[in-house]
Amino acid sequence: MGKPTGFMEYEREKTPYRPVEERKKDWKQVMEPWPVEPLKKQAARCMDCGIPFCHQGCPLGNLIPDWNDLVYHDQWADAIERLHATNNFPEFTGTLCPAPCEGSCVLGINEDPVSIKAVELSIIDKAWENGWIKPQVPEKKTGKKVGIIGSGPSGLAAAQQLARAGHDVTVFERSDRIGGLMRYGIPEFKMEKHRIDRRMEQMEAEGVTFKPNSHIGIDIDANELKTEFDALILCGGASARRDLPIDGREFKGVYQAMEYLPQANKLCLGDTISEEEHINAKGKHVIVIGGGDTGADCIGTAHRQGAASVTSLEIMPKPPESRAEDNPWPQWPFIFRTASAHEEGGERVYSVQTKRFIGDDASNLKEIELVTVEMQKEDGRISFKEVEGSSQILKADFVFLAMGFTGAEKEGLVEQMGIELDGRTNVIQNKWMTNVDGVFAAGDMQHGQSLIVWAIAEGRSAAAAVDEYLMGSTDLPAPV
Ligand SMILES: Cc1cc2nc3c(=O)[nH]c(=O)nc-3n(C[C@H](O)[C@H](O)[C@H](O)COP(=O)(O)OP(=O)(O)OC[C@H]3O[C@@H](n4cnc5c(N)ncnc54)[C@H](O)[C@@H]3O)c2cc1C
Ligand code: SF4
Repeated sequence: MGKPTGFMEYEREKTPYRPVEERKKDWKQVMEPWPVEPLKKQAARCMDCGIPFCHQGCPLGNLIPDWNDLVYHDQWADAIERLHATNNFPEFTGTLCPAPCEGSCVLGINEDPVSIKAVELSIIDKAWENGWIKPQVPEKKTGKKVGIIGSGPSGLAAAQQLARAGHDVTVFERSDRIGGLMRYGIPEFKMEKHRIDRRMEQMEAEGVTFKPNSHIGIDIDANELKTEFDALILCGGASARRDLPIDGREFKGVYQAMEYLPQANKLCLGDTISEEEHINAKGKHVIVIGGGDTGADCIGTAHRQGAASVTSLEIMPKPPESRAEDNPWPQWPFIFRTASAHEEGGERVYSVQTKRFIGDDASNLKEIELVTVEMQKEDGRISFKEVEGSSQILKADFVFLAMGFTGAEKEGLVEQMGIELDGRTNVIQNKWMTNVDGVFAAGDMQHGQSLIVWAIAEGRSAAAAVDEYLMGSTDLPAPV
């Protein structure tokens, strides 16, 4: 604990963001770095609570009180060592994690929790600035070959762990660039992509080979790959998208969020998209269906493109401002949250269901019809009842469907290898191995759609299981 009375002296402060009018004009990261002195005060709020529940809240088991203390005492090089002991990529979580650790911070029982995520980001940013992050090349090679399919956070974490353990690791990615949803999905304004490129350079120096434009199960036979490698890890994500099959779904202007967001990522990376293909919200009335992270990313993207209006629709009721009685500490608090994209404008409408899309004779989307719904719970099951006479029509040039993902894609890889899936279309694994000997799985592909912090934790654990499978024992950590 840095300062015994810190939690009584200092209030939690909000992470500094660039002013709304400035940031809406560009795609650069919204979050600004904390100056050191105020940040140290935030670290000083970490108290000697005895049992740090934040360790349990963080899927990686990050050693949070240790690095809060080190930051308070200006021991930044030690702090990054402690942080890297449990997390391969603190810059990904430091920018993107919703911080379940903060939901279980002991100070959060009756005060605002410690700003853990902000401290984490400051540690890793300082480490890169000071050149403390070097490749960790293994002293001995094992001669074993591991293939990783998918280059999202789970694939990257598994690859780095296994390369450092001395294995020859190749990461296959069907997209033209490495990074999974962090590259093509999450917008530049939430995390600038040079953060991924910098890690790739480090990993290449550690011996990882990246093979983009390699669609396993489509361009490359998955079973042939299996004979080439001593073990494979499936890290393909949960990319089957939930759809909304209502009247008018076929109209031009109704898109999946993941048709829209990657285009903006590509443009930020210097690619070109023809005017015909470009889904550009400039001057358009935009409706986003789904109130989660993906929805917020569509909202922020539409603002930056200069949309005429942006409305986000959510079928669930508006969450409470503070914890409900059935959602006590240290559970994740289901409360009303305002993402940076929401601060930038637009309207958020709750308890509504979209009934149909309305188009013109040329099948262009023009409007949508909504109804208000009441949520009902019976035997733990949730249903929605339409409120009579509540129908309303909203103008809509574009609708972005951001309603989540339904699991792993079956076509190609999964079918070709005969990988078993559960009732939710997630890959079944036992100690990270699938039903096929030597084929492991990590991240959203076996978890269902989740978070980057979980993907990194599962990538680390799957790497430990693969190392043990290949070598008979392992020293690699397995956080989950
Ligand atoms: C728009 C959006 C915003 C999000 N925002 C956040 C956020 O702010 N914070 C957060 O914590 N989480 C967020 N998430 C969730 C988070 O991105 C995922 O949970 C995480 O990326 C999952 O990591 P993964 O490694 O399992 O898979 P992914 O990141 O999905 O990567 C899987 C990769 O595998 C590749 N692949 C699939 N099949 C094959 C194949 N057969 N051959 C070769 N390659 C293949 C895919 O192309 C993809 O690149 C967001 C998700 C979305 C969609
Ligand atoms: S990775 Fe996420 S949960 Fe873990 S300490 Fe960082 S912000 Fe908290």
